[in-house]
Amino acid sequence: MKIMKKTDNQIVFVTEIDESLANLVRRYLNQVPILAIDEVEISKNDSPLYDETIAHRIGLIPLKMEKSITEKTTVKLKLNSKKEGAVYSGEMTGKNKPVYDKIPLTILKKGQELDVVATAKVGKGYQHAKFSPGLMFYRNIVNVKIDKNCPAEVVGTCPKKILKNGAGKITVTDNQKCDMCEACVDFCKKQGKGTIELVPTKELLITLESFGQMSVEELFKKVSGVLKKDLGEVSKKLKAKK
Ligand code: SF4
Repeated sequence: MKIMKKTDNQIVFVTEIDESLANLVRRYLNQVPILAIDEVEISKNDSPLYDETIAHRIGLIPLKMEKSITEKTTVKLKLNSKKEGAVYSGEMTGKNKPVYDKIPLTILKKGQELDVVATAKVGKGYQHAKFSPGLMFYRNIVNVKIDKNCPAEVVGTCPKKILKNGAGKITVTDNQKCDMCEACVDFCKKQGKGTIELVPTKELLITLESFGQMSVEELFKKVSGVLKKDLGEVSKKLKAKK
């Protein structure tokens, strides 16, 4: 496994893994319990947005997942804003803070007010997108096989700039950067000279992103934990049937 890029909310890595297993991990992101606002009581809304729109925007604010949160946790958050200008997520008060303070919710004019009480609960992404902890996507790493008859001009067609012409031979500087756009393949076809073939390897380039409720490492650990638990349950049931 090779880590290509890592930030608090994103990790990009190359690993040899079966595509079906990678897809299972991707789908299991939506089985990780996440805290999100589920009910909104709006007692005053002078802003130009309808109550429903404000409730929808508030529902999608990612909330920090503290370690103490269990599947039964509920949290109250309050928002009372009377100041002129934009109302932001950071103005919400309660035990669990929004991950990002600068999500705009609505706008108020002088003398207007927004008063909201929200209740957050724990749910899973397959129930509603607001409970999604992040996303994962991947693609194959390919070997770029270049025929010696390909014209030198093909080098300029690569948007990733990974084709090089050295001493009359075209080579690939970094096949992990090839996103299979096929611009080089089409160019050779049109010119009627040589061929370029993209041959998939067993490696995948995987990107895992967290929406901020937890770090990306924590998210990966949680996904693996839930998956292991579910597979354990299946295994137990199969044994019991013998
Ligand atoms: S398929 Fe696209 S990215 Fe890959 S080498 Fe060819 S032109 Fe470059």
